[in-house]
Amino acid sequence: MRAKYKKVSRLCVWCGQEFEGTKRALYCSPSHSVLASRKRNPKPAPELDVQKWKAENAVLRAENNRLLELIDKLRTTPRGTPCKTG
Ligand SMILES: [Zn+2]
Repeated sequence: MRAKYKKVSRLCVWCGQEFEGTKRALYCSPSHSVLASRKRNPKPAPELDVQKWKAENAVLRAENNRLLELIDKLRTTPRGTPCKTG
C-alpha cells in the first residue's frame, strides 16, 4: 500500500491533539476545521496587540509622570505634614 501523500505527525490547530495527516493538514477532523473557521479570529496575532498596548501604555505612563511632576510643583502644602494615606 502506497500513500500518495506522506503522512506526518501534526497538532490540531483547534484542539491541540496530535494526529496523523498530510503536511497541509491543520485539523484532526473535518468538524474541527468547521469549528475553527466559524470562530475565526479577525486579529492577526495577539502579540501585535500586546506590543501596541505596551507602546500606548508607555506614552500614557510618560504623560502621567509629567502630570505628577506638575502636581508636585503646584502643591502648596507646607512641608512637615506627612501624608497619612500613602
Ligand atoms: Zn482537533
